Amino acid sequence: MKKYKNILNSVDKCDNFLLTTHVSPDGDGIGSLLGLKYILQLYADKIDLVLDDSVPEYLKFLSGTEDIYLYDEFDKTENRIDYDLVFVVDCGDLDRTGNVVNLISEDSKIINIDHHDDNQEYGSYNYVDSTVSSTGELIYDLAVELGANFKRDFGIAIAAAIITDTGNFKFSNTTSKAHRIIADMLELGIDTEKIIREVYENENYSGLKLKGSVLSNLHLAGEENISWASVSQKDLNHFQADWDDTEGLVNSIRSVKGVEVGVLFKEMAEDKIKVSLRSNEYFAVNEFAHQFEGGGHPRAAGCTIMASLAEVEEKVISKLESELGFNN
Ligand code: 5GP
Ligand code: MN
Repeated sequence: MKKYKNILNSVDKCDNFLLTTHVSPDGDGIGSLLGLKYILQLYADKIDLVLDDSVPEYLKFLSGTEDIYLYDEFDKTENRIDYDLVFVVDCGDLDRTGNVVNLISEDSKIINIDHHDDNQEYGSYNYVDSTVSSTGELIYDLAVELGANFKRDFGIAIAAAIITDTGNFKFSNTTSKAHRIIADMLELGIDTEKIIREVYENENYSGLKLKGSVLSNLHLAGEENISWASVSQKDLNHFQADWDDTEGLVNSIRSVKGVEVGVLFKEMAEDKIKVSLRSNEYFAVNEFAHQFEGGGHPRAAGCTIMASLAEVEEKVISKLESELGFNN
């Protein structure tokens, strides 16, 4: 039984595709998008990749990212059409595509490919599997089923998706299959060490100094079961850094010995705070984030709360303390 037969039937009948992923795109979103593009090129000439936010600096080494449109620029071009088929990857909720949702017409068929267990199944066809490491793994399966010939760039994109979403095979979503796919990529001659270096060991001087400063203001709460820190607009300006430079910071916050939950608060604008949550062993941060209209995975989730930085810090940390059983 072919798992992706509806995709095959749909791509055969359609002439143009729109591909997108979530706001604040990450390695899995971008890698999956590019991998999918390489597969779909066999079926159509018009394939537009459009995102609400730009591709982060640390992913620009992936070839094909230069052809990804930013919604604000794309919307003004004559390129825009009513797409037959829209692929949304690594995105649990259609609203998380941001403004790109405006490019989807009522007649467009949506194909939803994702691994978030809180996925809203908003597609005409939904391929949601929360047991896989990453959406990249699903795109790899799709390529195998369609009999696509793996090209180098496809392999690099999928390897980047898997490597980033498993944090270099460190996170709890790491599977034997994720390792097997990377083994295949190594056999294809793909330089995974280079991908890892590009993503993790390529810090901006100003960004690393920002991280140092944030970590020197690390706090503990909930009888040392919670560690947290914040990045304000002032910090960002002081170090002349940008949000891309905070990538991975929440993992350092979570890595304090004995801590279950690590939290990073990011002051995106006055009264708009992005909260990144990570846990180590048992606390379901996605369920916690749902209470603030956010979501994600059990060990990695996020939400955005509209209040001042100090208010959000206080509210989130005290709620976490109480949910973890430390009522102060
Ligand atoms: P991050 O903290 O790196 O931004 O996100 C961690 C995980 O949570 C990712 O899987 C991301 O897609 C998800 N996530 C982050 N923020 C939100 C949000 O506001 N809503 C939902 N549904 N998921 C989010
Ligand atoms: Mn993912």
